Amino acid sequence: MKNYKITILGCGGSTGVPSIEYGWGNCNKQNAKNMRSRSSIFLEIVDDSSNYNILFDCSPDFRSQALQNQIKHIDSILFTHAHADHIYGIDDLRSINRLIKNHINCYANNDTKNAIYQAFSYIFLSKKPVDFNNISKPLLKFHEINYYKDFIIGNNIKITPTLQNHGKVETVGYIINNKIGYATDFSYLSEQTIELYKNLDLLIVSAFTLKPHIAHMPLNELINLLEILKPKHVILTHMGTAIDYNEVQSILPNYIEPGYDGMIYKLRA
Ligand SMILES: [Zn+2]
Ligand SMILES: [Zn+2]
Repeated sequence: MKNYKITILGCGGSTGVPSIEYGWGNCNKQNAKNMRSRSSIFLEIVDDSSNYNILFDCSPDFRSQALQNQIKHIDSILFTHAHADHIYGIDDLRSINRLIKNHINCYANNDTKNAIYQAFSYIFLSKKPVDFNNISKPLLKFHEINYYKDFIIGNNIKITPTLQNHGKVETVGYIINNKIGYATDFSYLSEQTIELYKNLDLLIVSAFTLKPHIAHMPLNELINLLEILKPKHVILTHMGTAIDYNEVQSILPNYIEPGYDGMIYKLRA
């Protein structure tokens, strides 16, 4: 048995809510739960002998998310894909490196790894040995993942990476110990991926929009899919300005709830 603590650091779409161009859109600005930074979650796993902290993606809002939620230690980062809203907080990870005096292990598919190397080339240029007392840029150790090939991190934590289709790009969904799934940014899931997402204790899943969209599954389609997946509990994330917290909550079945920035969910399994 392990204790899982999930913090929703951010649950907004790529431009956040409110967004510069659409403002609050359909969202009630009086409800603080509608104020959404870019999507990322923080998972703390504790058992009798260890604790292990995983960050999912590193959004442009990572600095404020880390300050708000007192994040000071990260063991691993699981990247879903290299769209800007999922990686542009990377430079601020050097603050974590200074605290832990170590590298952070990063897991990504080949495309995402290459895109991060290109976007943050200054991080990977130096061949000098690392001085952990004088860290000037993020220290990231990348491990390439293969879809559907399980890997182990920390104290026997099993990670299953899945393939998701997100318009023209592929994204990685992650399943932790066959219990918790993080599935953001997808328009289509294959049968193989759907099988793996079935019967989880918790599924955190993106619900960007109400209308058909080239890169995101609309909410009505998602609700139908969740009926097939049968997770015990669902938290919606990556929500755009069309998704008002109270409005959407009122139409959702009981086991599905919209997330909000700073939300904490605990699970013992
Ligand atoms: Zn996104
Ligand atoms: Zn994306």
